[in-house]
Amino acid sequence: ADRVHLLAVSKTFSAGDVLAVAACGQRDFGENYIQEGVDKITALAAHTPRLVWHCIGPIQSNKTKLVAEHFDWAHTVDRLKIAQRLSEQRPAHLPPLNICLQVNIDGGPTKAGVSPTDALALAQAVSALPRLVLRGLMTIPDPLENFDAQVAVHLQAKQLFDDLHAALALPQFDTLSMGMSADLEAAVQAGSTLVRVGTAVFGKR
Ligand SMILES: *Cc1c(COP(=O)(O)O)cnc(C)c1O
Repeated sequence: ADRVHLLAVSKTFSAGDVLAVAACGQRDFGENYIQEGVDKITALAAHTPRLVWHCIGPIQSNKTKLVAEHFDWAHTVDRLKIAQRLSEQRPAHLPPLNICLQVNIDGGPTKAGVSPTDALALAQAVSALPRLVLRGLMTIPDPLENFDAQVAVHLQAKQLFDDLHAALALPQFDTLSMGMSADLEAAVQAGSTLVRVGTAVFGKR
């Protein structure tokens, strides 16, 4: 239980729904759509204890400023250009933005995420940016029905995470963001440290 963090994915749900889950003790919330996320972050800014907001949706160049100014984490960085913009636009009064690199662990060339072979080079470049802190990797494998098949894909991500952890030697590289409602048990078995769960917390979208 100490190794795995729960990220409650609140996309499409209201600020009031977030409050209901926060009342159960949940602190970390994930949003896919940046403007929708910013609206909830703003509405709930006075909440104590403070809520921690994770951007888990695609980040286009024209949205980096909103992410840098409002979120605590960004899980979907897969290009240096986006990371550079996030670092440049992170306000000085905020701590560095926590970053996970999205890795395309199982997919073809059209799927989002850096390829496993390019992940180390991107990680080295991102970890040098002053206003970011590189926390780990994130994956969204294609849905699989079979538990063992789910574990096998997640184990590939775990292996890559361990390889990068050893090569980078960064103390804060501690997060493997993988597992959603349909495959969180397999992800935890394979070594996930953070599961992103929407439907199984909030209900059907
Ligand atoms: C929506 C979403 C989730 C949560 O999905 P559920 O199947 O509802 O648990 C997790 N990660 C990402 C990137 C998502 O877009």
